[in-house]
Amino acid sequence: MSQSICILGATGSIGQSTLKVVAEHPEKYSIFAVTGHSRIHELAQICKQYQPKVVVVPSNQVDTLQQLFKLHQIENIEILTDEAGLIQVAEHADVDIVMAAIIGGVGLLPTLAAVKAGKRVLLANKEALVMSGDLMLQAAKQHQALLLPVDSEHNAIFQCLPQNYLQIEKNGEPLLGVQQVLLTASGGPFIHHSLEQLKRVTPAQAVKHPNWSMGQKISVDSATLMNKGLELIEACHLFSIKEQFVTVVVHPQSIIHSMVQYVDGSTLAQMGNPDMCTPIAHALAWPERITTPVPPLDLFVHSQLDFQEPDLMRFPALKLARQAMQAGSLAPAILNAANEIAVAAFLNEKIQFLQIAQVVEHTLNHVQNSSAESIEKILHTDQVARHFATEYIAQLES
Ligand code: NAD
Ligand code: MG
Repeated sequence: MSQSICILGATGSIGQSTLKVVAEHPEKYSIFAVTGHSRIHELAQICKQYQPKVVVVPSNQVDTLQQLFKLHQIENIEILTDEAGLIQVAEHADVDIVMAAIIGGVGLLPTLAAVKAGKRVLLANKEALVMSGDLMLQAAKQHQALLLPVDSEHNAIFQCLPQNYLQIEKNGEPLLGVQQVLLTASGGPFIHHSLEQLKRVTPAQAVKHPNWSMGQKISVDSATLMNKGLELIEACHLFSIKEQFVTVVVHPQSIIHSMVQYVDGSTLAQMGNPDMCTPIAHALAWPERITTPVPPLDLFVHSQLDFQEPDLMRFPALKLARQAMQAGSLAPAILNAANEIAVAAFLNEKIQFLQIAQVVEHTLNHVQNSSAESIEKILHTDQVARHFATEYIAQLES
């Protein structure tokens, strides 16, 4: 029987890759709902091609979308709006699978709604998990949601674990003979830049990733290595593992997507061309496998694979994320909020590249960390941290 999908963030890079995979399997999957924030023309095209039952946009985009529907003769699609609309489609009774691919903290409540409705949730929106951590995992357990990693590294780790195991630690000790998780990082576009050169890099240079084609925010995160920091936190929560068992390995070719080392000396790696269609297809069909447009890996072309340690002097964001995970509680949410504000400021040319980590560090040092006992408290702290980071950026500018 065909499964019904809701794509939160259908107009984004992950959303588009998801549609590409789904288009190969019309007998297996149908699109129930899609959501978009700003690229309304693209969203209308998606509606025309995939004929969802529901579409969600910000209220101020409804008129534009309706005009486009009229223009392209698109009919019988219900339009819902804003966060309430996102939550409504994420938990809708007719939805089997939710692709959580909104960027940033705004994706938290819709993703959590999907988890609480017991869906198969394909998690791309790492910020949502970084912010909510244990609360998201507890909700998944309580409501029997299947939370599957789409982030290529976490999907790779999942593939390198014995079938059915997501938890690899109990009472602080690794389970299943796992010794260490090796989280690979491409190193981003500035891997060879000196500190002096890093000071002067532009947003246009930062969003040009050498291996992956991604949205702007995650591309900047990859350039600062904050993306790897967020992924470190993501891995700790997804696999219930302490941060000291997660080692970051810079691997510039992005062919190995991560590895798991076992006590017997085995290291298992998942390899493939860097294309998000592979982890998306894996999470969609797991435990089965489905085809994707991704060509098989040609190791005679990719004959050299390099590995090195990350340089925390040039890329301090990774160190800050590890410290936030060690501190626990609200620290990861504070880190994430400050980073979102700092990245937006960098993209708007208000601060320099190296100031992104500076803003995050300053915010982490000044916004009060305490226990993350509820989503309300996390969201409140997220707002406090955003406000603090914004004010600090204004000071830096003046
Ligand atoms: P993107 O910028 O290309 O797309 C973001 C999507 O979120 C768009 O559909 C946009 O409409 C929607 N969105 C943005 N702001 C919104 C708001 N305020 N309210 C509602 N919707 C909003 O981003 P992306 O690269 O596709 O990344 C999406 C998520 O997947 C991120 O959390 C990212 O970290 C993660 N991820 C992406 C990749 C990748 O290769 N792109 C890989 C791993 C993980
Ligand atoms: Mg990743």
